[in-house]
Amino acid sequence: MPVPGREKSHRAAVNWGTMCTDAVPFPYRPDSVATNDAAAQRGAYAAAPEPLPVPVYDNHTHFDFGDTPVELGAALDAAAAVGVAGAVQVGCDLPSSRFTLEAVDADPRLLGAVAIHPNDAPELAAAGELEDALAEIDAMAAHPRIRAIGETGLDYFRTGPDGMAAQHHSFRAHLDIAKARDLSLQIHCRDAHPDVLDILAEVGAPGRLVFHCFSGDAELARICNEKGWYMSFSGTVTFKNAHNLREALAVADPALVLVETDAPFLTPHPFRGRPNASYMLPYTVRAMAELTGRDVAAMGQVLNRNTEAVYGTWS
Ligand SMILES: [Zn+2]
Repeated sequence: MPVPGREKSHRAAVNWGTMCTDAVPFPYRPDSVATNDAAAQRGAYAAAPEPLPVPVYDNHTHFDFGDTPVELGAALDAAAAVGVAGAVQVGCDLPSSRFTLEAVDADPRLLGAVAIHPNDAPELAAAGELEDALAEIDAMAAHPRIRAIGETGLDYFRTGPDGMAAQHHSFRAHLDIAKARDLSLQIHCRDAHPDVLDILAEVGAPGRLVFHCFSGDAELARICNEKGWYMSFSGTVTFKNAHNLREALAVADPALVLVETDAPFLTPHPFRGRPNASYMLPYTVRAMAELTGRDVAAMGQVLNRNTEAVYGTWS
């Protein structure tokens, strides 16, 4: 989750099944109206895309970070209606990781990932709470539907030099947990690729490593190819100025490519400014198919093979 929009104040409470209020927009309310017209709709959910011919999974999303509460079942129904069969719900701190455990128990269309986000590590370390938080993440990772540690990594955009030591320590601890529990690991990396690579070289990567919301260039894609690390592309690959991401996708080994929304952030072009959600994933899948010269069904098959290799099966 590499955008500066994630603020704790945006974190909304979630009600598990009965909630349907005016605060909940399309697609979570079937009777509300969505449109792709006009800037007047800025801030509202975009209309659903055409369904995918082969259902795929959203490899990284946050159901608890929207500006308004999300009714989980309805959100997953809206996704399923356009060929997004399920998602990996990702925790970034203790509250959202606890939410992730509840979510994977509540709906079989979800698998989960738990972690302390690199931007949260310095504050926890300063308060003397980081070790306890890491211990709780480790305990939560024992749940059979938690299939990844993430998002962890390094972020030098939001955290200055005084927070680096805590981020490095936290990242190493997450790598240890993933390896000890044989889980995949989702890396959040912002403005810190050299140090992420240095730490991975020093302590060794877990068996399945994912650069979530891949933000590198063709050179990093070549390194991932060499190492067998996965690259998860988000809506950013559709952004007009994202030439580096499209070059990376072009050289990425197809067996290492994944897709995600990182919802509610990073809404694909041309819907930037609208909230993102798992039902928007087909826009990115279609863009990736076009960029790699595949038909959409073949792209879906590639993504599903890779998704299963990283997270196992949902059923
Ligand atoms: Zn994220």
